This record gives sequence, C-alpha cells and structure tokens, in this order.
Amino acid sequence: MVSVAASPAVQPEPSTAPRRVTILGATGSIGTSTLSVIADRPEAFAVEAVTAFGNAERLARVAKEARARVAVIADRSAYDALAAGAAAVEEAASRPVDVVVAGIVGSAGLAPTMAAIRAGSKVALANKECLVCAGDLFMGEARKGGVKILPLDSEHNAVFQALSGHSIDEVDRIILTGSGGPFRDWTKEAMAAANPDQALKHPTWSMGPKISIDSATLMNKGLEVIEAHHLFGVPEEQLDVVVHPQSIIHGMVAYKDGSVIAQMSAPDMRMPIAHCLSWPQRSPIGGPRLDLTRIGRFTFERPDLDRFPALRIARAALGAGSWATNILNAANEVAVAAYLAGNIGFLEIARLVEETIERAAAQGLSHAPGSIKDALALDREGRRIATSLLTRRETA
Ligand code: NAD
Ligand code: MG
Repeated sequence: MVSVAASPAVQPEPSTAPRRVTILGATGSIGTSTLSVIADRPEAFAVEAVTAFGNAERLARVAKEARARVAVIADRSAYDALAAGAAAVEEAASRPVDVVVAGIVGSAGLAPTMAAIRAGSKVALANKECLVCAGDLFMGEARKGGVKILPLDSEHNAVFQALSGHSIDEVDRIILTGSGGPFRDWTKEAMAAANPDQALKHPTWSMGPKISIDSATLMNKGLEVIEAHHLFGVPEEQLDVVVHPQSIIHGMVAYKDGSVIAQMSAPDMRMPIAHCLSWPQRSPIGGPRLDLTRIGRFTFERPDLDRFPALRIARAALGAGSWATNILNAANEVAVAAYLAGNIGFLEIARLVEETIERAAAQGLSHAPGSIKDALALDREGRRIATSLLTRRETA
C-alpha cells in the first residue's frame, strides 16, 4: 500500500503560473465550493473543464463565470450547445491539468475519475464511492502512474494533514470524527418514522442529498472507514470512529508514542478543497475562522451501532472484501434513492443493504473485481439485486 501522507523531502518552489483545475460535478455542493475557492484567487487558479449530469443551463452559467475552456453535460437528453455524454465527461477528465476535483456523486464517478488518474493529473478526491467500489484498482492505478490522490473528504483531509512528515508505520490508530447526523439522539422508533426532510437536515454541514442521507444513517462514516483504508493503507481494526457533534476536529492520528495529532477548522468544505488545490503549499482563503472560546466545549461519544447498523455493515463489508464493499455501495445508492422517493422507511435503508450483500454472496458474486469494467458490472448486479428486493417489498 502506498501512503498518500509522505510529504516530499524538498518542497517544490511555488510556481507563479495559475494552477489548472478541472471540476467533475461542477454544479453540485463540492463543485460549487470549489468554484468559490477558485473565484477568491483568480491569480492562483484557472478552470480548464467543468462537467455535470443534467441542468445544462446552470452548467453553462458556471462555465462562463469560471471562464472554463470546456463544459460537458453527462445526460445526452439535457444537451444544449454543450458537449454531452458519458464519453465526453471522460474526455474532459483526461485533459492534462494540475488537479482534477472528483466531485461526482456515486459510482457514476468511477470511469471519469479513473480517466483523470490515467491522464496523470493529481486527483482531489471527494467522490468516495470510487474507493468503496474499486479502491484497490484506484490506488493501484495511481501507484503505477505515480499519481497523487489528495483526500478532499474533510476527515481524510484532516488525517492527511495530521500525517504530514510521518510514515504510516509510526501510526497506531486513525480516528475519523462525525457529527452523528440529525438523528444522533433520536430513538429507533422516531427514526423509523423519519421523513426525508428531517433526514436531509444536517446539523453542521450543507451537502448534496445522497451524502446527507448517508450522514443520517451513518453509512457515510462506514464509507469513510473504507475510504481511509484505501487512502492510508491501514487495516479496519486501526480505524476508529468517534462522534463529535461540534464538527470542529475533523480527524486525528494517534501515533505509537501516544501522541494524538488532530486537525481543526470551522465546518466548511472550502478549507479541505483549498488545501488540496494549493498542496503542498497553503493559500490564504476567506471564510469562517475558528473561535474556540465561542465554541466553548468539545464532546465525544461512541457511535451507537444498534441504532446505526450501517456503520457495522460497512465495516463487515470491508472485512469481507472488495466485492462486498462494491455491492454495499450499489445497494446503498438504490436504498437512498428509494427512501428519498418515499418508497421505503429510514431504517429499511441499512436492512436493504445488508440483505443485498447476503443475496449477492449466495449468488456467487463474491469475487474481487479485476478491472473498472468488472467493478461497474458488479455495481449493476448489486443494483439489480437491491431493486428486486425492493420490488418484492412493495408487492408484499
Ligand atoms: P451533489 O449531488 O451536490 O453533486 C453531484 C454532482 O455530480 C453534480 O454536479 C451532478 O450534476 C454530478 N453528477 C451526478 N450524477 C452524474 C452522472 N451520472 N454523471 C456525471 N455527473 C453526475 O453531491 P455532493 O454533495 O457535491 O457530493 C459529491 C461527492 O463528494 C460525493 O461522493 C460525496 O460523498 C462527496 N463529499 C461531499 C461533501 C459535501 O460537503 N457535499 C463532503 C465530503 C464528501
Ligand atoms: Mg466526510
């Protein structure tokens, strides 16, 4: 396993030419925050390409404001004077740039993010589903091409910062924090009846709908444990999750000598984004500053795996192997969409995911995908099984 943490012994001279950045998922929450960081420092960054799924009008506006050279829409039916189609998104991702921000949601980001790695661009990775679906393949490809994957997810970015200057062999444990989501202190009965509006109301972060639901089930923390395993090359047993409702400490590294290094900031994704875009330097950006006396106190709790079984299921999938994490992600994407559409209850999300993994194992799907094509085929199988379980539920 490569460690993404090792800093270069000699830091390169800061270059004066603006860094060229491509944004996959430019109309989303991560995309919007990235564009805002870039707009703050036009002398430091320039946008090469922007892509999105639908909403061509919005993308065209974004492209114009950011003075992007290329704009690509994935959904052909939304075509409107912009290049369109999945192949065009991959092509945009392959344009040589300094950094590609992988901000697509779900397994839809697999092929374009892999295209960016193959083109040799640094990848600032928000799209954690890439690593959940095919982490070994992504990290293997990055290692082969000498491509840097910069962790953009706030917890992993925090750990990346806390690891700076150290090797992974010096680490005892990696600690990912989480706010606990909107249902942190709800009873199971109340959670069973929770509607999507309640689940989408995240206490500390404002994010896209899929990750907001994942944060409410704690599946997001489960996906992040899998993500951390791949990014840092650390086994599941050394990855801890701690609930920290204030969302100020984003991640920690506990070293073998007993020291724990934590990274703190106001909960604002612009900070990890700026860190990735400027790495290994730091650049001045606007935004909220941390005022510890106003926050007053930090609290920490153990996650309740009885009320939030998704975290347990994700850990078990990591132990079972890459086929299981791939199916976990596929089933979760289907379950979250069904929940948001009002077709299943909140507690059924985790149940559907677990049942899909069991069914996939029974159907002999428990083989590690050997290529992105395999990973996407397995993802389709997982979706097919989850959808058939859903249909059975609805007709029962
Ligand atoms: P979002 O729903 O707000 O945005 C998703 C973007 O991806 C949009 O631009 C959309 O057009 C594009 N997209 C969706 N489907 C696509 C497809 N099939 N082909 C091409 N493009 C497609 O999501 P988000 O909250 O910005 O999250 C993006 C990723 O970043 C997720 O993997 C999420 O887990 C991760 N992440 C998000 C946050 C956050 O604060 N929002 C924090 C950490 C990690
Ligand atoms: Mg996160």
